[in-house]
Amino acid sequence: MKTIDLRSDTVTQPTAAMRAAMLEAPLGDDVFGDDPTVNALQDRIAAMLDKEAALFVPSGTQSNLVAIMSHCQRGDEYIVGQMAHTYRWEGGGAAVLASVQPQPLDHQPDGTLELDAIAAAVKPDDSHFARTRLLCLENTLGGKALPLEYMAKATAVARQHGLATHLDGARLFNAAIKLGVSAHDIAEHFDSVSVCFSKGLGAPVGSALVGSREFIRGAHRWRKMLGGGMRQAGVLAAAARYALDHHVQRLADDHALAQRLADGLQGLPGLTIEPPQTNIVFADLQGPRANGLMGHLKSRGVLATGLYRLRFVTRLDVDAAGVDRAIAAVREHLTA
Ligand SMILES: *Cc1c(COP(=O)(O)O)cnc(C)c1O
Repeated sequence: MKTIDLRSDTVTQPTAAMRAAMLEAPLGDDVFGDDPTVNALQDRIAAMLDKEAALFVPSGTQSNLVAIMSHCQRGDEYIVGQMAHTYRWEGGGAAVLASVQPQPLDHQPDGTLELDAIAAAVKPDDSHFARTRLLCLENTLGGKALPLEYMAKATAVARQHGLATHLDGARLFNAAIKLGVSAHDIAEHFDSVSVCFSKGLGAPVGSALVGSREFIRGAHRWRKMLGGGMRQAGVLAAAARYALDHHVQRLADDHALAQRLADGLQGLPGLTIEPPQTNIVFADLQGPRANGLMGHLKSRGVLATGLYRLRFVTRLDVDAAGVDRAIAAVREHLTA
């Protein structure tokens, strides 16, 4: 029985064609700036996001940390959402390794941070306070696409207060597909953007940080200090390049499968489904059958996560038949 793994889009295996691209990639030592495949990837993603430069990094966590370290000094702070990856899911790295304090704000139901709350969180210039330097947004956030208009307004508020702006765009292309815009239409509002190749795009490893040439020059030094300087990294960059060529538009298929999953789960006893916007379906489960669900799914070869809420993520190597098996396994448990 094939396992239907809906825990995350990160579990996606590189396709045969992607592996072939990795095998054929010309390589060099990227610490010397000599890897032609890394250089081509960096040029490509910078151009796609209409920024001057980009830096290939091992992970999205490192990309965000490098961004925060590049925008902020020790003793500064960044404004961020309570559920943002850069605050909640990165081990406290900004505080621990960058000595930059987060100022978390509650999200509104659509995932946005209230504009007035952002402005109110900016500290006066007074030695009692950390210096507020940066606004960090995330798109998609928990699978929700923040509208373009909101990103324009929020970053305008940030600029009025002299803050830099960073977007954690781990799933930037999912947001672009959902909003029906180009990735650069989103990126243009931000000084820097981080993009993951290892999520829905299906590459095994890697993220990119993009921004101005000067910003990326500074980021390069922090990446080295954090241990992110890689050598023949083109073998990984080749997978990311392949993903940009072949796996962006197809994210729409993942979104359609998430909708199929939500439709199939809708109305099952005890289950409340949040209508999905992209490739992530969240569900809340109450009642007597809640406890055994994960174990039951596992026994049927279906994997999901249940850290805060039930979460199912559709992705490249899951098809409609797999989604239907997941629906059947949940239904079997909840209606038994
Ligand atoms: C996955 C993810 C990251 C971090 O990426 P890693 O490569 O796992 O470190 C950052 N932000 C968001 C929103 C993510 O989903």
